[in-house]
Amino acid sequence: MKLRSVKGMNDILPVEARRFQRLENIFRQTVEAYGFEELRTPLVEELGLFQKSTGETSEVVQKQMFLLARERESLALRPEGTPSAARVYIGESQHAKEPITKWYYLGPMFRAEQPQRGRYRQFHQAGCELYGDAGPIADAEMISMLVLLAERLGLKGVQMSINTLGGAEARALYRQELVRFFEPKRSSLSEHACARLGDNPLRILDSKDPRDQEAAEGAPVLLDCLTPEDREHWRGLLHSLDALGVPYVVDPRLVRGLDYYTRTCFELTATSGEIGSQNAILGGGRYDDLLAGLGGQKTPAIGFAMGLERVLLALPDEIPERPPLVFLAPMGDAATQRCLLLAEALRRAGHRTELDGRGGSLKSMLRRANGMAARVCLVLGDTELSSGRIQCKDLARHEQLDLGLDEVLGRLSELLASDAGPTGRSAATEGRAE
Ligand code: AMP
Repeated sequence: MKLRSVKGMNDILPVEARRFQRLENIFRQTVEAYGFEELRTPLVEELGLFQKSTGETSEVVQKQMFLLARERESLALRPEGTPSAARVYIGESQHAKEPITKWYYLGPMFRAEQPQRGRYRQFHQAGCELYGDAGPIADAEMISMLVLLAERLGLKGVQMSINTLGGAEARALYRQELVRFFEPKRSSLSEHACARLGDNPLRILDSKDPRDQEAAEGAPVLLDCLTPEDREHWRGLLHSLDALGVPYVVDPRLVRGLDYYTRTCFELTATSGEIGSQNAILGGGRYDDLLAGLGGQKTPAIGFAMGLERVLLALPDEIPERPPLVFLAPMGDAATQRCLLLAEALRRAGHRTELDGRGGSLKSMLRRANGMAARVCLVLGDTELSSGRIQCKDLARHEQLDLGLDEVLGRLSELLASDAGPTGRSAATEGRAE
């Protein structure tokens, strides 16, 4: 049997994992500055949670759930993070603990879709959830934070599209308007859109089928169905975004794939790198009715999720640098024992250190040190050991230093610190192949 990974689920090898780590660090730093704290929830939930929140009519629940059937239990791998966070918010009676709660999460999500570039069955999302603030300032701050995040990540060709879906009242009115508009065109709609006409006509506007797109020309827009309160919220958001100087585009056709959104929704796209047609980097919006719908207190909320694989596709293929490597090449048993202690001391001092304890030739150890792009290679033989000296090969500057064994730790720390320029980047190793 040939061992292979499951369709649409990717292994992330160490070099690629470094790209993920860089992105995750920038995400954490950015959202923590806005007051979000990390929440970690299980990968598995009861299926009912997603049916009640993500929505029975959403494509995700209808077609893409990974189910885990067990006796008397119906479980599912999570397809997104919002339902789990809402479950915790309700279960912990979070509303009684603080007026506003800000959580973020990071981790794998699962959707059984047809895999293609930028669309996988296991992928990673980083997202935020903000509970307890109904006002448009919260929306504006979140959108502004995301534009900053995109900039820090180095995304190019970025567009933040926003729209309002109105509250429940406006949505009901809009639904009627859409049914009235699409009903006479039923025969020219796709099968999928015909089904949506009955349960969720808004989704027809989201359809990629050319027949539906043609039929949707001239469809009523939700902005015309808003209540005065919805309108005030929307104006408040635009006003704050303008005051912050956040660039955005109003897209009246933007409707998101999950059922729970109300009022503000947004999506950020990028055109750089290898991203191709799956160019939505992140999406989110308000879900003011979700918590009450799940049996919690009525609590306004807003959130987003960013697809990490999509961000990486949109970025250049650069591999983030690692800290400089100190390589120890001992020759002989006594030297190996001494290097064993020295390697531990170097690591405790914070230096990335590799000891070649295989007992091979100096040539093979140097080859390995070069292959690992070591910054320095310390060579210790029995002669050096007896005279208390160690050879330090500076592989970046092609120099050799003869150091006392008792000073090596201090001298190496100085050498490596002098490499790091004002930005902390290693001047001596920059541009070297790994
Ligand atoms: P959603 O949870 O559907 O609103 O998606 C939020 C973001 O997650 C999208 O903008 C994508 O960047 C990413 N995403 C969603 N589905 C997938 C998938 N199957 N594979 C990779 N990324 C995805």
